[in-house]
Amino acid sequence: MAGNYDALVVGAGLWGATVARRLADAGQKVRVLESRPVIGGNCRCEIDPATGIEVHIYGSHIFHTNNTAVWAFLNRFMELNAYHHQVLAKHNGELYFLPLGLALVNRFYQKQLTPSELPAFIAAEAGHAEGEPRNFEEQAIRLIGRPLYEAFIREYTRKQWNRDPKELSAAIICRLPVRVNYDVGYFTARYQGIPAEGFNRLFERMLDHPNIHLELNTPFTLGEKNLPVYSSAPLDALFGYRLGPLTWRSLRFETVRQPVMDWQGTSVINYVDADVPWTRIHEYKHYHPEWQEAFAAKETIIAREYPADWHLGDEPYYPVATPETAALVERYRQLAKEYPNMVIGGRLGAYRYYDMDQSVAAALETADRALKENK
Ligand code: UDP
Repeated sequence: MAGNYDALVVGAGLWGATVARRLADAGQKVRVLESRPVIGGNCRCEIDPATGIEVHIYGSHIFHTNNTAVWAFLNRFMELNAYHHQVLAKHNGELYFLPLGLALVNRFYQKQLTPSELPAFIAAEAGHAEGEPRNFEEQAIRLIGRPLYEAFIREYTRKQWNRDPKELSAAIICRLPVRVNYDVGYFTARYQGIPAEGFNRLFERMLDHPNIHLELNTPFTLGEKNLPVYSSAPLDALFGYRLGPLTWRSLRFETVRQPVMDWQGTSVINYVDADVPWTRIHEYKHYHPEWQEAFAAKETIIAREYPADWHLGDEPYYPVATPETAALVERYRQLAKEYPNMVIGGRLGAYRYYDMDQSVAAALETADRALKENK
C-alpha cells in the first residue's frame, strides 16, 4: 500500500489508533507513524513471562465510561472484563477505602454519620467561602473541609505535582469522586473494565485493517502538505519545542517481583502522607482475576510509583495545569493554526488531562467530522 494515502496519523496510542481505525473503516487509506518500536502509547503493557501477569508499564490504566458509543467501539475489538476499580489510601499507618465517602469520613472522624447527615457535616467542616474557588486548595477545602484535605489530599498532591496545591488548577480535584454513601467503587461509570485479552492485543486489533499501514520507529517531522495529518505527538515536541517546552509531569516506576501470591490484596494503594516518597503501589495481577493461572501464580508483581520532574527527553505523562502553562499552550495552539491540514489530539497533543474514554470520544469525533467534511 505504498503511497496514495488519504491520511497520516501520528502516534499509535488510544487517540491515534481510534482515528486511524475510524478513517480506515470509512474507506480511507491511512498511514500511521509511531516513533516507538511498539504500539499502544502509554496504555502499553508487558506480559511477565514467568507468571503471565499483565504489567502496565506506564502505570495502571483502568477503563471507565458512560459513553455508549465509546464502549461499543472498543467492544468491537475486544470484550472488557468485569474489573471494577477500588483504591485504598494509607494514612498514618492505617488503610482507608477511597473515595471520600461515608466509609472514609466515619472512620476518620470516628462517627456514624448517615447519608443525610454527611453533607451538613462536611459543609460545617468546609466553612463558608465567598466567590469562585481560585485554585486546587480552595476547591478541595470547599468540597471536603480542611482536616480531610490535609490528611488525604494535600501531601499526595504535593508529591504528585511537586507544587503547592494553591498553584494548581481547581479542575484537578474535581476528578476525585466524593460520595454520600458506602460505595467504595472508585468510579461510578456504567461501563468499566480491563481489555479481557490485554491492552496490547486490543491495539493490534484496532490497527489490523487492510487500509492501515503502520510504521514503527518512525518519528514524524512537520512538513507534510498534501495529506490531512492527525497528530497525537506532545504539543511542544510536534513543533520542535519552538516556543519552549511545556510543563509536564513524569513518573518513575520501581517494579518488583514479590515471592507471594498476593502482596497487598488489591490493585492500588495510595500513600497519602509526606514521609513516603511514592504516591501509590500497583499490584497488577488484580486487574485480571479471570486470568486464573497468572492470578494464582506463587509470585506477584508490584510497582511503586514515584512522580518525577520532566526534563527534555523524559517521557511526559501529565500536563500540568497552572496559569503559566495555559498561556504557552495557547501560543502553541495559535502556531498550530498555521498548519490547516493538521488536527492535534490525545492527552499529550491536546495537553488535556484526558481519561482513556475521553481520548477515544475525542478521536471518534475528530474522524467523523473529517469524514463528513470530505463528503
Ligand atoms: N488525589 C489525592 N489523594 C489521593 C488520590 C488523588 O490528593 O489519594 C488528588 C491528586 O491531586 C491527584 C488528583 O487527585 O493528582 C487526581 O487523582 P487520580 O487518582 O484521578 O489521578 P491519576 O490516576 O490520573 O494519576
